[in-house]
Amino acid sequence: MTFSLSDEQISKQQEFRRFAGEEIDTGDHYPQENLKKAAQRGYMGYPVPAEWGGQGEGFLNYILLIEEISKVCASTGAIIAVHTSVGTFPILYFGTGQQKQRYLPGLAGGEMLGAFALTEAGAGSDAAALSASATPVEGGYRLNGCKLFITSGGQADLYTVFATVDKSKGVKGITAFLVERGADGLATGTPEKKMGLNRSQTTELRLEDLFVPVTNRLGNEGDGFTIAMSLLDGGRIGIAAQGLGLAGASIDYTVRYLKEQEAAGQKTEQGISFALADLAARLEAARLLVYRAAAVKGSGVRCSKEASMAKMFATDLAVEASTRCIDLCGLAASRRDNPLTRYFCDAKATQIYEGSNEIQRIVIARQLLK
Ligand SMILES: Cc1cc2nc3c(=O)[nH]c(=O)nc-3n(C[C@H](O)[C@H](O)[C@H](O)COP(=O)(O)OP(=O)(O)OC[C@H]3O[C@@H](n4cnc5c(N)ncnc54)[C@H](O)[C@@H]3O)c2cc1C
Repeated sequence: MTFSLSDEQISKQQEFRRFAGEEIDTGDHYPQENLKKAAQRGYMGYPVPAEWGGQGEGFLNYILLIEEISKVCASTGAIIAVHTSVGTFPILYFGTGQQKQRYLPGLAGGEMLGAFALTEAGAGSDAAALSASATPVEGGYRLNGCKLFITSGGQADLYTVFATVDKSKGVKGITAFLVERGADGLATGTPEKKMGLNRSQTTELRLEDLFVPVTNRLGNEGDGFTIAMSLLDGGRIGIAAQGLGLAGASIDYTVRYLKEQEAAGQKTEQGISFALADLAARLEAARLLVYRAAAVKGSGVRCSKEASMAKMFATDLAVEASTRCIDLCGLAASRRDNPLTRYFCDAKATQIYEGSNEIQRIVIARQLLK
């Protein structure tokens, strides 16, 4: 059992840290430039095999990438993570040869952006209750329904959309489809004004008699729910990495602030240093959980429990660390433009998406009690 990154992983981590520190911006606008720079470095298809245009890197290396980018801009981290683990992996894992040829090189190269459309008004935590319909017609399906809170809605070039061919069949009716941007009958709503991850555009996605050819069905009819759940394992580790980035950024900011205060003659109280020590220890614990989940996923073994533990622990910590650090920095941190405020708002969003942390607890408990 090894508890440290290999020399190669440490060198990658340094590369990602340099990239994020020097190239990633933190404005209010959609981070198009960040994504372009990430694509130029091959980061939009980092864990995708080289034969499909990716970098063929291990899943843990990809997680290190998301952590470092999220330390600087969690919205950019979120867009890349969603694009990769639930926007590109569906085709890599479940696509036909033809689907892979058509979409993977563009997605892995960053010329195309991927998105994942599962959530509906009555089907968030309970994804099995979705009611978007896919009616079989000559040559394909007609999709009708409305998806909510879709990351990269309106920006993405390819959506993996989940709809049911027969609601009476429950999860066995849920089927996955690949829908291209600009398809007739696909409409996106206005971007949500979210509390956090604001640079990542999130919209409604309306399916209005949208025709999808049978060649764009992903897997068989009825495979959709299994596909969605298995993709979420990897997706959740990506969100856990965003949590690591946000918790790390909060602690780093606070350490810098306290050192500046000390340099100006203001001694750090013991209560403050103890709080910081607790957060630093918990961040190391979170890293072990997240990296282990990534290693299990990278080895090809099913990792639902590990992924849920990592997502729950790291994103809860991100909220706790950013909240606590705001307390520790006091007045200086209560300004709206202080980075800690952004870290807190972004961290809150990571607790919710790809399964709220209550849902992660359900997944973990189910594994324990089965
Ligand atoms: C920033 C962001 C990006 C997103 N991106 C996407 C995307 O790209 N694609 C997509 O499909 N969706 C996306 N979503 C939607 C997200 O996955 C859902 O918001 C999430 O699954 C929770 O669903 P809900 O909001 O409907 O909450 P609900 O399911 O209504 O839950 C409300 C509350 O009840 C709790 N709860 C629900 N069921 C239980 C239970 N059985 N036991 C205990 N507590 C429970 C939940 O934890 C939550 O606190 C995104 C959301 C956000 C915030």
